[in-house]
Amino acid sequence: MARLAANHRQKRMASSPPVFRFAPSPNGRLHLGHAYSALLNQRLAGRFGGELLLRIEDIDLTRCRYEFEQGIFDDLAWLGISFPPEVRRQSRHFDDYRRALDRLDAMGLVYPCFCSRQQVKEAVGRCEAESGMPWPRDPDGAPLYPGTCRDLSEAEARRRRAAGEPHVLRLAMDRALARVAGAALVYRLFDETGAQRDVTVDPAGWGDVVLARKDVPTSYHLSVVVDDALQGVSHVVRGRDLEAATGIHVLLQRLLDLPTPRYHFHRLLNDETGQKLAKSRLSRSLADLRADGATPEAIRRQLGFT
Ligand code: GLU
Repeated sequence: MARLAANHRQKRMASSPPVFRFAPSPNGRLHLGHAYSALLNQRLAGRFGGELLLRIEDIDLTRCRYEFEQGIFDDLAWLGISFPPEVRRQSRHFDDYRRALDRLDAMGLVYPCFCSRQQVKEAVGRCEAESGMPWPRDPDGAPLYPGTCRDLSEAEARRRRAAGEPHVLRLAMDRALARVAGAALVYRLFDETGAQRDVTVDPAGWGDVVLARKDVPTSYHLSVVVDDALQGVSHVVRGRDLEAATGIHVLLQRLLDLPTPRYHFHRLLNDETGQKLAKSRLSRSLADLRADGATPEAIRRQLGFT
């Protein structure tokens, strides 16, 4: 029944005008890589007769700052990219993510994990020392969670939660995959000409991903999936660095009976040293370039949007 409803929504989505979104995190100033992503979203939304939404992905309450959010608005306006005024800020919608988490929990797919990062690192180190083999890594290169808390008894997990012990909530990947066994874990990849093809994903390689962090009742994966559905996003255009993680998103969409948007993954921009542009490396921001006299036209031309 729920699957039928999801199919119906998917068909309806295919016939209404496309909805794109640009979804930056206000944890630093935007750089040329963001400009490229936003301009490509604008171009493809225009080309396919769609609308482009802005979403502020600010669940990380310690790193996201108001001044950076303001910077996003300034930079996008300067570049000539406009959005409908109702901008969704994730930090105001924790209840939506909690509801999705509760549904997964009711299916028996969520468990609390009390391990600190350091403990996970040590457990992985021990496993590697014992086996003499490298511990498996996820597609981003991080060691897979070794499952320390997966088999805690319910009583113990309840006791430790009640005692206020800090914990994250993880998806039990094996059980989640068993639950959707038989459903196609597929998304539609589209290119700039509109050509499409189906891509089958295998999220098993991510292991028991975190669905809610210690300090926030959600995670990037959970909120992105919930928001794309709630905002009726039909076309996701984002960097190649998020291509592999799309497997997790498709799995969550199946589990939560949410439609799967179409996806396009664009190239990532490098700096002069060949490194990927990143806020964390303090790549030159659009604001810096603007202060040095760059014009929006020059930026567009540099990025191939003439
Ligand atoms: N908020 C993410 C970022 O700034 C983008 C997420 C997405 O496009 O799905 O990298």
